Amino acid sequence: MADRTEQQARGTVHVGGEWRPAVSGAVREILDPADGRPFAVVAEGDERDADLAVAAARRAFDAGDWPRTPAAARAALLRRVADLLVRDREPLGLLESQDAGKTAAEGRTDIDCVADAFRYFADLVAAEAPGRVVDAGSPDVHSVVVHEPVGVCALITPWNYPLLQASWKIAPALAAGNTFVVKPSEITPMTTIALMDLLAEAGLPAGVANLVTGPGHTVGARLAEHPDVDLVSFTGGLVSGVKVAQAAAVTVKKVALELGGKNPNVVFADACATGKGFDTAVDQALNAAFIHSGQVCSAGSRLIVEESVRDRFVAELARRASRIRLGRGTDDGVECGPLVSEQQRAKVEAYVASALDEGAVLRSGGKRPDGPGYFYEPTVLDRCHREMKVVREEVFGPVLTVETFRTEDEAVALANDTEYGLAGGVWTADAGRARRVAARLRHGTVWINDFHPYLPQAEWGGFGRSGTGRELGPSGLAEYREVKHVYQNLAPEPVRWFAG
Ligand code: NAD
Repeated sequence: MADRTEQQARGTVHVGGEWRPAVSGAVREILDPADGRPFAVVAEGDERDADLAVAAARRAFDAGDWPRTPAAARAALLRRVADLLVRDREPLGLLESQDAGKTAAEGRTDIDCVADAFRYFADLVAAEAPGRVVDAGSPDVHSVVVHEPVGVCALITPWNYPLLQASWKIAPALAAGNTFVVKPSEITPMTTIALMDLLAEAGLPAGVANLVTGPGHTVGARLAEHPDVDLVSFTGGLVSGVKVAQAAAVTVKKVALELGGKNPNVVFADACATGKGFDTAVDQALNAAFIHSGQVCSAGSRLIVEESVRDRFVAELARRASRIRLGRGTDDGVECGPLVSEQQRAKVEAYVASALDEGAVLRSGGKRPDGPGYFYEPTVLDRCHREMKVVREEVFGPVLTVETFRTEDEAVALANDTEYGLAGGVWTADAGRARRVAARLRHGTVWINDFHPYLPQAEWGGFGRSGTGRELGPSGLAEYREVKHVYQNLAPEPVRWFAG
């Protein structure tokens, strides 16, 4: 991995295989959320940098070798990238931890998952048939449906899982033979910058992978509207996602949106009938809501628990939430890092204040601890209801709301009462009920007696306003492709439709 000072000197805009500063010369300090102090400086690109990067990606797509490289060779390159990620796991994991404020263990796990994504898409394209032969009803016709790369892809990513979210786009985009411009979040760009060097080291031709650091309203907006971009894949918040879709509509780009969530975690009393069942459901509810300080799109931030076990469940949850050890992600024994920014913490505080105004009962947390950094205590809010802002909107912080139900129908109605539809969990000892409820949940991922696991081979994405399109799985590759039907007449004859 490049040394930070060296990286800073050469610039962090990657265009056509070269590192360069922003056209304007502007820079941005990257802050460590554990103490609020700058630890790196990156180029602050704008529309001009985006234009240069798109031009490089366009050239590499139209005239370069990558889109025409055989699938086996593309797969081999992706596997080399995975190997390099494994080699650099420790420095990359620590960099992710410092940049995004997650624990070092989470940072390392993220890098493992990034490597897995590259391997998965390598295996997927390597195993594919080159096309689907269609029966055209005549021995004189050869008809085949083939998949081709879509072209230049704009990939826009958020700050909570910086490299993981980027890899869910970059790996399939490359596997399919595209070129791209990636724009990481302006506040957590460090590991995506590092990945560009690994792609080059693995042998990716110059110009295939380009990166522009800078804000969403300039760089991101320009990429979304750019006439030479064929596809935009965006992961981020609902408001920005709508703007991206609107900008992309003007040139009828392909658009994939992975947006927010307000994810229910439904606990039936029967799941808590044994000591182990109760302990597991509480432990996983804690994990669902508070891992990475709740800054997870699929965070189980709405606990919907059967009324008969509510008091016992919430008391244990609050007890354990108040014992979560906050601190700098790289320090020993730390279980939860800070929020990513002061702005994010202020937003969380405002949600908690509004919930208390609306009648929620605070069971744990509810304030920022003393000391530096953007920390906020894991917070459990009891006696919540669906009209509260904190229940309806994505908080994206360590805040768990508690609602109750009496019947299965009521549980399903509550769980589906959201404009989002990203993910949800259901806890029950009754297998029939588990299947019934899972079938009725309007969410892109449903966990039964678990929360949070995902698999690279299974699609990820949302119903409703959680987005359009899917990442991962075969559909995650299909996003990056055009479908073409090639009809070859082997014995052409005049048609004689027109008599003259
Ligand atoms: P955000 O929408 O503020 O920013 C996301 C990215 O979009 C950033 O790179 C930003 O610079 C860029 N951007 C902002 N405005 C833009 C515009 N007008 N045009 C183009 N680009 C623009 O989101 P965030 O705060 O970085 O991330 C948190 C959000 O991401 C949450 O809502 C979370 O749920 C969501 N998220 C979703 C998933 C998923 O898989 N569905 C995964 C991770 C995060």
